[in-house]
Amino acid sequence: MGLESFMKEEIQAYNSVLDLIGNTPLIKLQNISKGLKGNFYAKVEAFNPGHSSKDRIALYILEQAEKKGILKPGDTIIETTSGNTGFSIAMVSIIKGYECILAVSSKSSPDKIDMLRTMGAKVYVCPANVSADDPRSYYEVAKRLHEEVKGSVYINQYFNELNIDAHYHSTGPEIWNQTNGRITHLVACSGTGGTISGTAKYLKEQNSAIKILGVDAFGSILKSFHETREFDKSEIYPYRIEGLGKNLIPSATDFDVIDEFIKVTDQESAHTARELAKTEGLFVGYTSGAAMQAVKQYEANGMFGTDSNVVVIFPDHGSRYMSKIYNDEWMENQGFFDSVQEENPKKIEYVK
Ligand code: PMP
Repeated sequence: MGLESFMKEEIQAYNSVLDLIGNTPLIKLQNISKGLKGNFYAKVEAFNPGHSSKDRIALYILEQAEKKGILKPGDTIIETTSGNTGFSIAMVSIIKGYECILAVSSKSSPDKIDMLRTMGAKVYVCPANVSADDPRSYYEVAKRLHEEVKGSVYINQYFNELNIDAHYHSTGPEIWNQTNGRITHLVACSGTGGTISGTAKYLKEQNSAIKILGVDAFGSILKSFHETREFDKSEIYPYRIEGLGKNLIPSATDFDVIDEFIKVTDQESAHTARELAKTEGLFVGYTSGAAMQAVKQYEANGMFGTDSNVVVIFPDHGSRYMSKIYNDEWMENQGFFDSVQEENPKKIEYVK
């Protein structure tokens, strides 16, 4: 809702949370980037009402389906999700009056699953470490439910072109305008690939010299596929970061607009996320730590110059990882403190 409608109605209120999706801030990184060559800006997607970049695709895809007459009131939306897309679809469904069924990976944190249920979704938890074509995988479970539930629409974010379009029409133009066209590099995680592909497509259309730098996880196929266009199964093994990397090739990833990928570890990404809170006051998710970790690695490889304006996308909010990277016991159990000691850790004092 724009200012004009505010003035007409006099009461300064948004019609619903949906009006707050997008237009997230760009925040200069002042401290964590000290010693790094270049200027670094974070696009902080936690400022969306559903606290992640996935609000953008949920709203865009459902509104496109409505326009095409595919969705009717009372219909059911089905999706596979590591949590964030599910939350966003559930949120948009509540306002628009749809049922929402979500098939999620068992890797998703219990907090995420509880949040989906709080938003009125029916949740199926599927084993994480089975192949994508296993009938128990969340892809196969969603497909089966789509066949069984009458009047259901399967969003299928990994294979839906509208996932790219959503970011082409929102994230891309926002970053271009916020940097006054002075962005030189984009660093973004790739899961479905929608964020990086759509944003990159828009930015490259404005200035083809902008470098698009992807972030992938050790244990994922994306980097190797980008380099060879071959599916090397040996690249795939379990890892902890949720929402980053993949064990299949999503058609929502346009590999041609991405210049290169770098891989980050579970451990370094977790520590970097914690560092973002302590240095920038930014309480962001695990993949935001991964993206910042990738920035450090790209910088160490000599990717940036002093005049570089690097935009890094932070996909979601830290509150979703309280039982994981922001829990010292979980960190310890992963062995993440074995070789890395954090500076000035403040221990809890129990007053007796
Ligand atoms: N970070 C998080 C936390 C996510 O849930 C996702 C989506 N899977 C991504 C990053 C990657 O975004 P995209 O799917 O648009 O590539």
